[in-house]
Amino acid sequence: MQSDSLSSRDKKVIWHPYTQAQLASDAIAIVKGEGVYLIDENGNKYIDAVGSWWVNSHGHSHPMLAEAIYEQAKKLEHVIFAGFTHEAAVDLAEALLAFAGAPFSKVFYSDNGSTAVEVAIKMALQYFDNKQEKRSKIIAYKNAYHGDTFGAMSVSARSIFTAAFEQQLFEVIFIDTPTPGNEAKSIEQLKEILQNEETAAFIFEPLIQGAGGMITYSAQVLNEQIALCKDYQVLTIADEVFTGFYRTGTAFASHQLQNKPDILCLSKALTGGMMALGVTMAAEFIYEAFLSQDRSKTFFHGHSFTGNPLACSVALASLNLFKNENYLLHIKSLYEMQKTFVEQIQKHPNVKDARSCGIIAAVEFETNEASGYLNAALGDAFHFFLEKGILIRPLGNVIYTVPPYTINKSELSLVHRSFEAFADYLTEKKHGKTDLKTSENFD
Ligand code: PMP
Repeated sequence: MQSDSLSSRDKKVIWHPYTQAQLASDAIAIVKGEGVYLIDENGNKYIDAVGSWWVNSHGHSHPMLAEAIYEQAKKLEHVIFAGFTHEAAVDLAEALLAFAGAPFSKVFYSDNGSTAVEVAIKMALQYFDNKQEKRSKIIAYKNAYHGDTFGAMSVSARSIFTAAFEQQLFEVIFIDTPTPGNEAKSIEQLKEILQNEETAAFIFEPLIQGAGGMITYSAQVLNEQIALCKDYQVLTIADEVFTGFYRTGTAFASHQLQNKPDILCLSKALTGGMMALGVTMAAEFIYEAFLSQDRSKTFFHGHSFTGNPLACSVALASLNLFKNENYLLHIKSLYEMQKTFVEQIQKHPNVKDARSCGIIAAVEFETNEASGYLNAALGDAFHFFLEKGILIRPLGNVIYTVPPYTINKSELSLVHRSFEAFADYLTEKKHGKTDLKTSENFD
């Protein structure tokens, strides 16, 4: 590494997220993004197989999205969103509500996934407070991840991510994730809580828990749990920050449910990965509980960048790309490829489990350590894939791919072949036949 390289300048001044700087390699300096590729300062090209933390859905530097930001920037870059509005925010809200369908009727803007979740939790709690109903408990799944701010951490599993803040997190009742074989237990746990506690809301990531290890569960069991919540007038919050925008096979994962959530959180792919934006959608009856001559019933929440016009205009442009029938057909063909791939790799002796859900494919590798984020057995996976020109970011012993939808079939095949090569490499490693050095680049 040259001393004046971006990587070395970075090391002196930047504190990176989710990175133990003492163990991690230097940050790779990316100088250009082009379609599914990221290009570093030394000219190396990598397929972004994780869509840069799941935000990028249409490839990097998409010309139509770049154009949308440019055109908007020339007109209006930002305006205070209390007491003022603008075309991009209204257009996007109308389009998102049409896209999401019933029961949503109002869009509240914020600027990332964690704040979209914070807003949802605050809406749910204040809904009951405004109605003078004493309900304060929130239910979430064990193994959940909903973000890094305090409210979002509170409704997330207690883990290494939250350990230092445990005293400050509010109490949440956790039930089992209804993974195959665990459905009845999870339903029973929910029933018992609903019967015995003053519950305000139940928050979940529909169909797949992303950061928790790409853990999948059925729409049917979630349907039943939402129905139970409705019986007890408990609000349901779908965190679709990861699952939104065709990730799970439908526009939203909630579209696979007959019983709809009352609140929906969106971010990440909302802008195609071009700008930071969060959305919390609510059903009309929730909005109505905040309408009053009494100012204390106001929803006192808002960020400086709420409803940012650049973010709204590019989100709208991103939504418009999904109107192309051929693009949707291509996306469907990628789902099929992911499905076939996991069926194949599932048979490999080093694979404990392989799962796909829409565009998401995840492989849980067999290691001698317990599964989970801190499983370091695949510590060299990041470099293994990088050498093959593929950017992945393991969740412990789970390696997954959520590529941009613009990936072509031969590029996705290349990603799949690399997973297979990695599974074989683990066998060689077991037999001491490889000298690829291990590092702790999994975090
Ligand atoms: N909810 C889910 C389901 C997520 O996956 C994430 C981020 N990985 C968040 C919320 C938080 O989003 P952000 O990182 O934008 O705050």
